Amino acid sequence: MDNRVRIVRCASYGDASVGRAVAEAVEPWGGFGAFFKPGQRVVLKVNLLRGSRPEEAVTTHPAVVKAVAAAVREAGATPILADSPGSGLPYTERTLEKCYRRSGYLGLADETGLELNYDTTSREVLFDDGRVAKKFTVITPVLEADAVVNLCKLKTHTFTMLTGAVKNLFGVLPGFDKPAYHARIRTVDNFADVLLDVAFFVKPAFSIMEAVVAMEGNGPGAGEPRNVGLILAGTSPLAVDTAAGAITGLPPENHPVLRAAAARGIEPNRPEDVDVVGPALEALRVPDWKWPPTVAGEGGFAGYGPLQGILRALLRNSLSVQPRVRRERCTGCGLCRESCPVSAISVINDKSYIDEKLCIRCYCCHEACAHDAIQLRRSLLHRLVGGRF
Ligand code: SF4
Ligand code: SF4
Repeated sequence: MDNRVRIVRCASYGDASVGRAVAEAVEPWGGFGAFFKPGQRVVLKVNLLRGSRPEEAVTTHPAVVKAVAAAVREAGATPILADSPGSGLPYTERTLEKCYRRSGYLGLADETGLELNYDTTSREVLFDDGRVAKKFTVITPVLEADAVVNLCKLKTHTFTMLTGAVKNLFGVLPGFDKPAYHARIRTVDNFADVLLDVAFFVKPAFSIMEAVVAMEGNGPGAGEPRNVGLILAGTSPLAVDTAAGAITGLPPENHPVLRAAAARGIEPNRPEDVDVVGPALEALRVPDWKWPPTVAGEGGFAGYGPLQGILRALLRNSLSVQPRVRRERCTGCGLCRESCPVSAISVINDKSYIDEKLCIRCYCCHEACAHDAIQLRRSLLHRLVGGRF
């Protein structure tokens, strides 16, 4: 297992700055020429979510896509940008075109000739090595690629705490297959197992995490941009996520993906397991990183002993963070309803309503809403003891 993570400073999205940082990031492995052969097709698996302006820090920034695509071309291979957008959006040509336009990828394709995927077919695959997911559906461009470069973005996530290299690969599942998993797999620990299974199936040649401007707070779609000024790279998505957790100050036991990896005995899952090439992780720690209300209570991060596990299961709803609709912001677009895996949302008279009894607290609606109209409110009990439980 190659646990190296190359960390490079990158202060801005200027072409020269990003181009240098990407070249330095892959240099310890001998550059992309060591991975790709002339004529190969290499999918750049970006984070498209629902398509957003680059300055909102929701999607992989086009400047980073541009630099990585150029490096793939230098190796003689052909880059193809692909992703299935996030919760609530169908995987159609029309949706892809809209998301590409909003994210600046259409402009990039015009400027550089980068191929954007519009093939919306997918195929079921069997994965005997999966712990939870042994059969799932994957978008065709990923299945047909010679290699995948995982081009993720560092963001907080209301359900999985952080979204990074492992979580980004969940986007190879088409459209509504993603919320369907939330309906079937309701705990974050089991969901993290699915994320690991999918990541091990895709097995990207390389993961590059874009954290020039990351997202803190209510990520992955409604948080605030945060200047971090880094690009992280490695062949192991887990290693990249472990380093990102240390940089943001997320203890490994509070990082569901790392917890799932530890339970399987897969390394790396702790900062000390990572071979950092570049500045030490402690020197890169972002001060006062803002977490979503689903992550930390006033007393800090939740504990993960056996007692906490039992109490958390017993008090699941009263200890959780509830999604509430801000009626004044709601446009009635219905995207939250489409994203809800358990049909807990209705739209009546152009306003969204959530049935709290049906809600499983997956926060797909929060991720789907482009109007910041879903607020996450901590219950009284969560406020009182959330830091311990
Ligand atoms: S809450 Fe958001 S996603 Fe849902 S209908 Fe209102 S604006 Fe649309
Ligand atoms: S209403 Fe509840 S179950 Fe439905 S998407 Fe939102 S958080 Fe998930």
